[in-house]
Amino acid sequence: MSEKVCRDCHLISYGHTCPSCKAIDLSDDFSGLAIILAPKDSVIAKIMKIEKKGRYALRVR
Ligand SMILES: [Zn+2]
Repeated sequence: MSEKVCRDCHLISYGHTCPSCKAIDLSDDFSGLAIILAPKDSVIAKIMKIEKKGRYALRVR
């Protein structure tokens, strides 16, 4: 199964729906990877408005 990324919250997952925001509009065309382990302490998480830990794509097309 290929990785998909949510266009709304940029979370990378393997399913057909985003496990975070339940969106079904997922893309397989993305670049960059941010692994957020501690959203509250992460500058990247703040910029990307990420509240849950996980793997996120930096850019989604
Ligand atoms: Zn999402």
